[in-house]
Amino acid sequence: MTANAPIIQDVMTLPRKLPEGGPVNIVGLTREELLAALVAAGTPERQAKMRAGQVWQWVYHWGVRDFAQMTNLAKDYRALLAEHFAIVLPEVVTRQISADGTRKYLIRIAGGHEVETVYIPEEGRGTLCVSSQVGCTLTCSFCHTGTQKLVRNLTAGEIVGQLMLVRDDLGEWPERGAPKDETRLVSNLVLMGMGEPLYNFENVRNAMKVVMDGEGLSLSRRRITLSTSGVVPEIARTAEEIGCQLAISFHATTDEVRDILVPINKRWNIRTLLDSLRDYPRLSNSERITFEYVMLDGVNDTDADARRLVKLISGIPSKINLIPFNEWPGAPYRRSTPERIAAFADIIYKAGYASPIRTPRGEDIMAACGQLKSATERARKSRAQIAAETGL
Ligand code: SAH
Ligand code: SF4
Repeated sequence: MTANAPIIQDVMTLPRKLPEGGPVNIVGLTREELLAALVAAGTPERQAKMRAGQVWQWVYHWGVRDFAQMTNLAKDYRALLAEHFAIVLPEVVTRQISADGTRKYLIRIAGGHEVETVYIPEEGRGTLCVSSQVGCTLTCSFCHTGTQKLVRNLTAGEIVGQLMLVRDDLGEWPERGAPKDETRLVSNLVLMGMGEPLYNFENVRNAMKVVMDGEGLSLSRRRITLSTSGVVPEIARTAEEIGCQLAISFHATTDEVRDILVPINKRWNIRTLLDSLRDYPRLSNSERITFEYVMLDGVNDTDADARRLVKLISGIPSKINLIPFNEWPGAPYRRSTPERIAAFADIIYKAGYASPIRTPRGEDIMAACGQLKSATERARKSRAQIAAETGL
């Protein structure tokens, strides 16, 4: 699928009036939505595709925030844009930088809610870990975000905005006239921050359409990984409508243990989940699925677990990522010992899977996997609330 192919067809179904109540934020609109909004604001239909392309490049390729700087547009057209539109990102509340260079941003979105975004620099590349929800409806027992009640889904603009504000902070927008720089500070994006991305499917999909568009932020679908706890009905749709890499929070090799660690397992168990994955590589044209496995001392880390794990996933093109448990205050588990993790890894290695242990990053600023939780939203959910939200 090319990002702008279906533009004319889709645009016919979009609203022809701008919503009431102030300027429309351009950030996060898909190309089709932008085109429809430009028409609704008075752009002649026959010019709309070209205008949408020009605005798109200014916003997503050059990182421009002010319509006055869009110099290939006529002055009165820039004024029309300024009257009806805005280019706004979430606000950065705090930024912490770890000893290892990891950056954690606390950002504020409409309604005063806060989420976290983490940038992890690596040799020759850099990964941005973005959030898709404020909190999470799910209640994985080892995850800090899981103790925070869901406040709301992020909009597509708030998801795309996380990438844009980190590029601002890293000074990563191209200089006009300068030679093209192929090294990218944010070269990869993972949907592994706060929230379950597949419970916010449309916004995540639209955000990724914007991020993948070759005339803008231009991150290829191969450099985007969506991590899910296993929302089975949305997995085929992810392959077809996003086509990114998929990671599964697997974490256990029996339903008995997975029911406790990843309670969504009570709705879609290991067998159902694995069955839903078999077609993913073909449908999404991606190579392998990543199985994430958090190492919890005495809970899921025996040799028998390692052997069951490789047996369960055999037949699915996959890689395994062992994540040493990142502890958080009050966590009910401990990290497996390095010896145990090494022994577990060895069994996996001998079964044909390469270098699977993920190095924890940014632990000193509580930025590591599963530690994200916004400072203002510390309330623990009640059992009744969890049941109401998840139907589990
Ligand atoms: N909700 C999605 C994505 C966010 S969590 C999901 O569950 O997949 C990103 C990854 O971090 C998941 O694999 C999650 O299981 C893992 N994780 C959560 N808490 C963790 C912790 N305390 N230590 C290590 N990994 C953790
Ligand atoms: Fe939600 Fe993922 Fe944490 Fe589970 S691991 S509570 S699905 S964020």
